Amino acid sequence: KTFEELGVSEEIRRAIEELGFEHPMPVQEEVIPYLLGSKNDVIALAQTGTGKTAAYGLPMLQKIDPKNNATQAIVLSPTRELCVQIADDLNGFGKHIDGLHIVAVYGGADIRSQIRTIKHGVQIIVATPGRLVDLINRGVTELGQVNNIVLDEADEMLKMGFSDSINTIFEQLPEDKNTLLFSATMSKEVERVGKSYLHEYKEIVV
Ligand code: AMP
Repeated sequence: KTFEELGVSEEIRRAIEELGFEHPMPVQEEVIPYLLGSKNDVIALAQTGTGKTAAYGLPMLQKIDPKNNATQAIVLSPTRELCVQIADDLNGFGKHIDGLHIVAVYGGADIRSQIRTIKHGVQIIVATPGRLVDLINRGVTELGQVNNIVLDEADEMLKMGFSDSINTIFEQLPEDKNTLLFSATMSKEVERVGKSYLHEYKEIVV
């Protein structure tokens, strides 16, 4: 199949062609049409290197309204390095989308510049859970229009003790949204989180 057949828009296809993507990877073939087609949730067992970032990122970018500066999607990830990597990837996939603003926020960095960026308006926040809770507590974020949240490397986030932070973040989000959980391993804890936050979901093993 081609990205066009999966329903990926022309402006995103142009960007990924420039990145050298010729054919969708298996996780992308499964996840992209599913997320573009309906309002359902996904649990995917997928390692790094399988193309998971584009699997959730392309539909996320395609569903965002770049004319609306409100935050519409969140990606939670365990570390600063991963947040930066994911935000870079999303910026690359979305380079032809006018008005797209993405921020990576994580602990151990100056929070004031992160606050300034968020206040300018960002449609996508890529964050470590602890830092996002900090920003929520400071009243910086407005999450009432978030309709898409991804837990990337969920197993790692839970191992690092981010369970309470993830809970606090979900309490801020609208009821009506897509929730995607990506994990390299399926543990009891990942399963518990999946059951508490996801509704009817598709399970994919890559
Ligand atoms: P990820 O699993 O998201 O970390 O992606 C692994 C690597 O594969 C990244 O360098 C991506 O840029 C690359 N990649 C993702 N999808 C494709 C694709 N369809 N064709 C070629 N490379 C890809």
